[in-house]
Amino acid sequence: MPDTRFLPLIVYDKRFLIWWGISLYLLQLGSRRQLDFDLDARGTEVLNNLNRLAETQQETRPVHDTLDHFLGHTGAAPYAELRTRMLRRLIRMRCLDAARLQGRFVVALDATGHLAFRQPHCQHCLIYRHATHTSYLHQVLEAKLLGPAGLTLSMASEFIENSDSNAALSGEAHKQDCELKALNRLLPQLRRDFPQLRMCLSGDSLYACGRTLQLAKDYHCNYVFTFKPGRMPAVWEDFQSLLKLCPQNTLERSTPEGVHRVYRWVHGLSYRDDYGRTWRFNAIECKETVGEETTTFAWITDLEVDARNVEDVATKGGRQRWHIENQGFNRQKNSGLNLEHVFSTDPERLKAYYYLLQIAHIILQTLEVGSLLRDVAAEFGRTPGQLFGSLKNLARRLLEALRYVALSDKAFDYFRAASIQIRFDTS
Ligand SMILES: [Zn+2]
Repeated sequence: MPDTRFLPLIVYDKRFLIWWGISLYLLQLGSRRQLDFDLDARGTEVLNNLNRLAETQQETRPVHDTLDHFLGHTGAAPYAELRTRMLRRLIRMRCLDAARLQGRFVVALDATGHLAFRQPHCQHCLIYRHATHTSYLHQVLEAKLLGPAGLTLSMASEFIENSDSNAALSGEAHKQDCELKALNRLLPQLRRDFPQLRMCLSGDSLYACGRTLQLAKDYHCNYVFTFKPGRMPAVWEDFQSLLKLCPQNTLERSTPEGVHRVYRWVHGLSYRDDYGRTWRFNAIECKETVGEETTTFAWITDLEVDARNVEDVATKGGRQRWHIENQGFNRQKNSGLNLEHVFSTDPERLKAYYYLLQIAHIILQTLEVGSLLRDVAAEFGRTPGQLFGSLKNLARRLLEALRYVALSDKAFDYFRAASIQIRFDTS
């Protein structure tokens, strides 16, 4: 054990430590320990580059435990706020506008697993008893803005966890926190963070219920939710009979790839929820045929639906929600972002890591599909995909650049950066 009384005290600037933390995900290092090796300062430009990025003058690099302690001090809130500010900036730059649906941003709602344990982990774990074992889980409900070019940007996050230790102890499903209960906390937060923004919520059939329709109304959001017969059986029957009565509400579309879609819709379906409240909305059916196979999709929405916009509502409001699963959750789990990795033993710090991951993923996505990288690749007569081969390679190139290249002063010129317009490929 070294005698620490005589070691010099090193104070790290918080800007430096936050960049250190974002680097963990931006460079897709996979685990905290990897920071000590991949960002080793000896014989590299790591300190030089990070100091200029953070506008600091650190003379040594921190170790990964320094980051963990620091996050313990700050808690998770500042990183949630930083993420929100990044989103506000992107919205203000108008570079996401191509994805608007009837003037509104589409906000996909969905929950995903964050951490899973076979042993009790903390007093907030969700407890699921299976025939052979019990699992202790942490989940998170995400509101992600669906931008152009498949961008899936975290706008608000609500951790699904038991606050009531009795619920946790009993493990009874109805007492535990869940996706819909978390939505009660997420929507007020989302509205507070984006008070003026016109939003259209997009979600699976779980959300097609009175509780969510009331929340959408209370927080001034429109909605497009998946419509399944089982979730609202009586309304589904009305829908099917009304469709027969308005054959004029039909639009057919074929794509060059041979996908044939038939859209049909009805206006003013009525639904009485469990609390006796009556709701009115429109519903869309889309029958999609590829070769011999036909699949039926349906949605309910309070947006206007007619022959001119039905395809837009079904595509941007309905189908693109799948991006949250693919580009959003799968990508965060099955890459060096390593969403399900336990980055800390402390439950509160785990949330801070979660937000740092979201911040890095916003940066990565804007880099991957933005015009800056496209312009660089074009200089070599290639697309970014051809130049880098994979997103994993892109992360490795970023790491190499940070380690071995003293980035030019021009790269850190904030005035110059202010004039750069990011454009996303909307083709
Ligand atoms: Zn736990």
